[in-house]
Amino acid sequence: MGTSPQLVRTPLVPGAHGTKDHAARGRLEQRDAGEHQLLRTTAAFRAFLESLGLDPEDPILAGTDRRVARAYRELLAGLSEDAEPTLTVFPNTEGHSGIVQVTGLPFYSICAHHFLPFFGVAHVGYVPGDRLVGLSKLGRVVDYCARRPQLQEHLTEQIATYLDQRIAPRGVMVVLEGRHLCMEMRGLSRPNVMTTTTAVRGLLEDPRRQQQFYSQLRVTGSRTDPEDI
Ligand code: ZN
Repeated sequence: MGTSPQLVRTPLVPGAHGTKDHAARGRLEQRDAGEHQLLRTTAAFRAFLESLGLDPEDPILAGTDRRVARAYRELLAGLSEDAEPTLTVFPNTEGHSGIVQVTGLPFYSICAHHFLPFFGVAHVGYVPGDRLVGLSKLGRVVDYCARRPQLQEHLTEQIATYLDQRIAPRGVMVVLEGRHLCMEMRGLSRPNVMTTTTAVRGLLEDPRRQQQFYSQLRVTGSRTDPEDI
């Protein structure tokens, strides 16, 4: 792990990162691999600076190669083997059949096409089956899926699929509102343009259920106008 240039290959399916034994056994190995990867990224970014005709030893750029390598390790933390969140689940003993919804979860990701940030808020809802999931974990799932090279469309679907597979709900709906610096700083230069993407599963494929999701967005004071989606 960590030496392949195919960064986006990490599959987003439960258990894809192996067993707990594997994680424990490999902790030391992982640290070494992490340091090795850091050195490789540092060298690569140094070469990148040089390719732009810049001098990595210029006082203003001194140490930037390693800082960037560290920063990207954090920005792409979802690629790491131990990044997958542990979901706390509870039995749905009262048979709650409405939409459990958390709105306005911030996300930060890196556009796979331009390697510039895109960021915004995620609204995540699900109709429980037998299980409820700890609410704070929904933000962890968003983070886990976002912190890798992404397209907003894929990110939205991956969050929905992840929850669908992990907590077996009767329905899932994920709405992302994102700003893309690759659109704002280059190309068409459109500041503050918002890109909205939606993914639905199960019961929430029903437009009447989706209306309920949008109503709950309004109740919580999100600036999202359902008429705009
Ligand atoms: Zn882009």
